[in-house]
Amino acid sequence: MTTPPVCDYEGSDYQTSFWDKGGREYEDRTEAIALKRLLPKRSRLLLELGAGAGRNTPRYLGFDRIVLLDYSRTQLEQAQQRLGKPDKYIYVAADVYRLPFIDGLFDAATMIRVLHHMADAPKALNQVKKVLGSGGIFILEFANKLNLKAIFRYLLGRQAWSPFTLQPVEFVKLNFDFHPKAVKNWLMDLGFKIEKTLTLSHFRVGLFKRLIPTSVLVFLDSVFQWTGALWQLSPSVFVRAKMKDGKKQEIPGTVLLFFKCPDCGQSPLVEQQDYLECSNCKKKWAVKDGIYDFREPG
Ligand SMILES: [Zn+2]
Repeated sequence: MTTPPVCDYEGSDYQTSFWDKGGREYEDRTEAIALKRLLPKRSRLLLELGAGAGRNTPRYLGFDRIVLLDYSRTQLEQAQQRLGKPDKYIYVAADVYRLPFIDGLFDAATMIRVLHHMADAPKALNQVKKVLGSGGIFILEFANKLNLKAIFRYLLGRQAWSPFTLQPVEFVKLNFDFHPKAVKNWLMDLGFKIEKTLTLSHFRVGLFKRLIPTSVLVFLDSVFQWTGALWQLSPSVFVRAKMKDGKKQEIPGTVLLFFKCPDCGQSPLVEQQDYLECSNCKKKWAVKDGIYDFREPG
């Protein structure tokens, strides 16, 4: 099955180098505040897409259970060290373009700093939609190409790509920034209603405010005022989107019943000693040290 390329954090010390020692306390804390504002107070089952080493997981307080999904097994191992292996957490290594879950399973999903690595964002968002149930909440963070720094650089002729066009920009291989309107359009096309939008990481804009003459800022301000309520000029944007309300689906009693074969869609899978087997296409999906691995069949 052909899917877009994946940005793999396998073996990466991303948690340590970027978050713990990278001077990102500001970003980390602003994310905590945004999540608090956007998350439902009480809910059942959450899918955390691109959970990495579990940095945000303890913030999902209102959920009975959380599925931590990442493409990298070593990131999930770091999450296990941080969070342990209580029943509450289910660790899944899988490709976001081939999610191994039955339709409508989850009450909510989060995708923070992940769309940033999606070569085919609409395809990934469509997968999220399929696994969300009626009234499902989707909290999505994306990197905003229409940020003040990019606008200035473009206007000053120091950046070739335009921040104003709707196409994503790949500024480094498998690192994409998106136009807020493009993301909104994708979500609405999938049937989501956007309930709330928050902009984050303004400090980088603040830096420019100190460096750039106020008159330029005022000019830009006047140009972009028409965006009104949709004013998003910060490098990071969070949206809370919701699926149509309807009858809530029962959550299966066992984790095994959460899964389907990511290759052929068969469910349920058959539990074997150290793998789950697809009775239709006969593929074997490894289960090792508390991690369900749906990346490559065994
Ligand atoms: Zn199968």
